[in-house]
Amino acid sequence: DSSSGAAKTEAEEGGKSTDDDDKEDKAAQSLLNKLIRNNLVNTTNQVEVLQKDPNSPLYSVKSFEELRLKPQLLQGVYGLGFNRPSKIQETALPMMLAEPPQNLIAQSQSGTGKTAAFVLAMLSHVDPNNKYPQCLCVSPTYELALQTGKVIEQMGKHYPEVQLVYAIRGNKLQRGMKLQEQIVIGTPGTMLDWCGKFKFIDPKKVKVFVLDEADVMIATQGHQDQSIRIQRMLPKNCQMLLFSATFEESVWNFAQRIVPDPNIIKLKREEETLDTIKQYYVLCNCKEEKFQALCNIYGAITIAQAMIFCHTRKTAGWLAGELSREGHQVALLSGEMQVEQRAAVIERFRGGKEKVLVTTNVCARGIDVEQVSVVINFDLPVDKDGNPDNETYLHRIGRTGRFGKRGLAINMVDSKMSMNILNRIQEHFNKKIEKLDTDDLDEIE
Ligand code: ADP
Repeated sequence: DSSSGAAKTEAEEGGKSTDDDDKEDKAAQSLLNKLIRNNLVNTTNQVEVLQKDPNSPLYSVKSFEELRLKPQLLQGVYGLGFNRPSKIQETALPMMLAEPPQNLIAQSQSGTGKTAAFVLAMLSHVDPNNKYPQCLCVSPTYELALQTGKVIEQMGKHYPEVQLVYAIRGNKLQRGMKLQEQIVIGTPGTMLDWCGKFKFIDPKKVKVFVLDEADVMIATQGHQDQSIRIQRMLPKNCQMLLFSATFEESVWNFAQRIVPDPNIIKLKREEETLDTIKQYYVLCNCKEEKFQALCNIYGAITIAQAMIFCHTRKTAGWLAGELSREGHQVALLSGEMQVEQRAAVIERFRGGKEKVLVTTNVCARGIDVEQVSVVINFDLPVDKDGNPDNETYLHRIGRTGRFGKRGLAINMVDSKMSMNILNRIQEHFNKKIEKLDTDDLDEIE
């Protein structure tokens, strides 16, 4: 009975196709990130800027005052607890607020301040005296649109003349009506209908068009096309802004169709490294032995907080149960949980309410819990073809340079196949993974 041997993904377990799961997963992951994020991601990397007109001077700001924002908005910014612009905001904000307005394509990982930046730009550009939509913002899902809406409400708290409406399925308006709200945020399909079919919005009066989470957007059938059709209804001088966390070729192609003559800002993600991590593996024969090894490890060393990764929901559920029976306070993240529930579990774990977090990979992608000092791969990360998933391995246990606290990673190996995967991971990173004898644990810690 070897659970890591079976290269069965969560998606297959649930009876869904992996592709569909992947799409859903992208939007869900992004939402999860938003729900659990309460501050900026730190980065030491510099932004890369490619200006439409390379001869024009490049402004960047170190304070919000320099931007000459409306006082109500500056109050909103400070009300949110922002002291100074984030790395990407330093250059993106002056570009977005320039006269005449400039188009922008910006890419940086989640949590670097993109949403706050374009929300500030939208709020700055609207004229509250004009009672019609002036800014349109499209998001991949209803839930993501609501999250952005919240930021607009918070930042615009002292600017109540500016109103917001959600163009989302289920928000049914009377035929023939004209929207009075200055900002419309929604999903591409409904936004397109509201501009075209129903004419609730006069697209010719729109001054700012924002397309958020372009990489998530293009994963959904039809969104790309709908967004382009909205864009085509807008006036030539409408400011176009596009944001994405990642930038594959497909995102780039899409971005260029949405944003003519763009300025481009990119912020590299902080590199993760295994340099400050001690890596071990433990040889077992079955999942029960793996569990026993885990108990031995817990008996031998003090573990403040640990994350344990399993390949399937079933294993994760089983392991969480066994650990609870041993008296551990265990948190479980599992695929069938709603994103909000997952966020709550992660928050509790971060707050130290539980000491062990058992999770499947799908759930935990992209989560960083900085205080975790021990990561256990109860199953090694493999892709859907059963090959080692090096990227996930690095992301699970790696640390970014600046916060490089020392860490401990323990890999459970229970078959020839998983030994082979471990060897390939070891070769890939060219970093030794040492064998650990769990009956004699003096060597670690
Ligand atoms: P992104 O859109 O890139 O994911 P957000 O705009 O949502 O990033 O910002 C991530 C987190 O950082 C949010 O909690 C947000 O409130 C906060 N934040 C954004 N800009 C600043 C800033 N200049 N100073 C402090 N916190 C900020």
